[in-house]
Amino acid sequence: MRLLTYNTLTVMSAKTTYSTCYLCTGDCPITVVSEGNRILSIDHPDCVRAGSMLEQRESPHRLIIPRIRASSHHPWNEVSWDEALSVTADKLTRIRDGYGPESVAFAVGYTKEVRPYLRRLAELLGSPHYITESSCCFSSGFVAATVTLGKEYAHFLVPSQRRCEQTKCRLAWSTNPAESQAPFEAHHLLVDAAQVPTIAVDPRRTSLAEVAAIHLQLRPGTDGALALGLAHAIFEENLQDCEFLEHYAYGLDDYRKYIRQYTPSKTSAITGIAEEKIIEAAKLYGASRPAQIVISPSSTTHHSNGFQAHRAILLLAAVCGNLDVDGGNRPWGHCFREKNVDLSGSCARTAPPAMGSSRFPLFVRHYHEGQGMLLADAIESGRVRAVFSIGLNLMMWPNSRRLEKALKNLELFATCDFFPNPTVDSSTVFFPAATHLERQALISTGAGRVRYRPAAVEPRGQAKGDTELVFECAKRMGFGEQFWNGSIEASYDERLQGSGLRFEDLPKDGSPLRVALPRLEERSYKANGFGTPTGRVEFVSSELEAAGYESLPIYHEPYWSPVSSPDVAAQFPLVLTSGGRSRNYTHSQGRLLRVLQEREPEARLQIHPEDAAARGIREGDRITVASPVGEIEMKAWLTDVVRRGVVHAFHGWPGHNINELIPDQGLDRISGFPPFKSSLCEVRLTSSPIR
Ligand code: SF4
Repeated sequence: MRLLTYNTLTVMSAKTTYSTCYLCTGDCPITVVSEGNRILSIDHPDCVRAGSMLEQRESPHRLIIPRIRASSHHPWNEVSWDEALSVTADKLTRIRDGYGPESVAFAVGYTKEVRPYLRRLAELLGSPHYITESSCCFSSGFVAATVTLGKEYAHFLVPSQRRCEQTKCRLAWSTNPAESQAPFEAHHLLVDAAQVPTIAVDPRRTSLAEVAAIHLQLRPGTDGALALGLAHAIFEENLQDCEFLEHYAYGLDDYRKYIRQYTPSKTSAITGIAEEKIIEAAKLYGASRPAQIVISPSSTTHHSNGFQAHRAILLLAAVCGNLDVDGGNRPWGHCFREKNVDLSGSCARTAPPAMGSSRFPLFVRHYHEGQGMLLADAIESGRVRAVFSIGLNLMMWPNSRRLEKALKNLELFATCDFFPNPTVDSSTVFFPAATHLERQALISTGAGRVRYRPAAVEPRGQAKGDTELVFECAKRMGFGEQFWNGSIEASYDERLQGSGLRFEDLPKDGSPLRVALPRLEERSYKANGFGTPTGRVEFVSSELEAAGYESLPIYHEPYWSPVSSPDVAAQFPLVLTSGGRSRNYTHSQGRLLRVLQEREPEARLQIHPEDAAARGIREGDRITVASPVGEIEMKAWLTDVVRRGVVHAFHGWPGHNINELIPDQGLDRISGFPPFKSSLCEVRLTSSPIR
């Protein structure tokens, strides 16, 4: 699509930049034509969010001058970059010197481009607390795959969105490409569904579920039970890959003994899916070779037992021998792996334990960063006194109000962003961020493509790229030398090591180059085994056992559910799932942009018409959604895409943030992930008191 702002034909000195969009992590190619600092046109994919990028740059709501204040209760003062940087660097250093390096935390949300540098800065300062939005994104699945299949297969399910001619069947688990992934309605999962029989597992009847051969509409949070029930039925039908299991499975007997109880009848009772559908799906997936599991990065793990549920799902691929075969699930090999520029090989060895090391040791060990869901604990206990963050979004925490309050009590809370939001409102130092049209980056994407993305135009006002922010801060803290003496280009050279390229080789108009990647042979485990302690696929996980966890993928009811907490359910009887994607927004971003507001102006809750009628709620009514943790207002969307007894809330709405209702006591015991997708609530017309 072309976003035209001026008639380019009348412009003589136009510059073309082959850039990428960073309004989500898709990094889709875009072409920007500009003259001086004026953007003339942008060619971008057919994506609503991409249509907002010019407004993101030019919005009157945008914050473009650094600010500081004495506390979150004081008024802001606009200051120079120099002053904001000096205050930040000075306070971080003083707090580190006074209270130890563990008193300072570093946090990144969007953009992720700055991550390697912020981590390096944290390590140079001696802080063990480098945390990112991965504390509740795809990392739990990454660690679950690591302990089950080994590091080589840690990204086992991440690339499963790739189309492969050989795939005979797809098991699409909680993924909704029509709303989440370019090219949306034209996504191959939807387009191919008539040719490639698809099983859609989703508590909602999504567009994919509509075209799927089978829709398994499970009660939110029962994914683990469903995976075990499917495995049970696959063995009952004798559809397992005996040869693979004989040579490469560890703990299979114990696993088979455990899943014996997950009969279709028991699985049906737990999940709410009819027995015959469970058997039909098991037969379809089990009998199709190769079959592919397609999964979104985090939805299977946003439960209080999501880690084990994810393990149970990925073990289905092992049961049927679909591992590391074309058309099945193969490891991630399509990106050039940049050299890590963090210092975890040196500084981290002597650093104090990272956030979450004792409570979530496997997560911290395998993901190499702190579990940020414990940030409020760390601040409230006085262990963390300062936070330096880039694009941090406090709304992504369960019981978000608690973290908001904690952040407001820090001695220093510095953040960098584009627009006012609850996180910026809680900070004491603010740095204005440059948008992706205004900042440079080194980008490695699919098929070995590497590009230098230059800024297409200068930043507005005093905004700066977040990489520049970290470099400047490092210099003021005395780490200029370790930050390539201030040369971002030199840092790119280091990151490119192993590619055969240097920064000077990359086209400066943003065109990509392709790095030759080693060809990945199918079934590499035949030569190398699996990278687990036993060298096999671990149905019984040695690492989980050694760490004191259940070693089988045991199913547990969600932290709050009608079964596990009937007392809570008596007052809050609706099962709450949240965070389904809307193509209009990436999480909480873009809420102040008119072009997106016009498409989706309000926070909405999907509720079945019968549940709504029972509460006197009509379409479009203002409603209060309440849980034991808090309550928010939303707008009612009456729809039968959810079952009776289940409601779904869209996330990311400041002032109507559904995560305020999610209990932060219900974290997954292995990963620390919050139960965003399986909780309890009650809904009432806003004017009426709760029953
Ligand atoms: S999917 Fe849309 S928002 Fe995301 S990077 Fe691509 S164009 Fe941008």
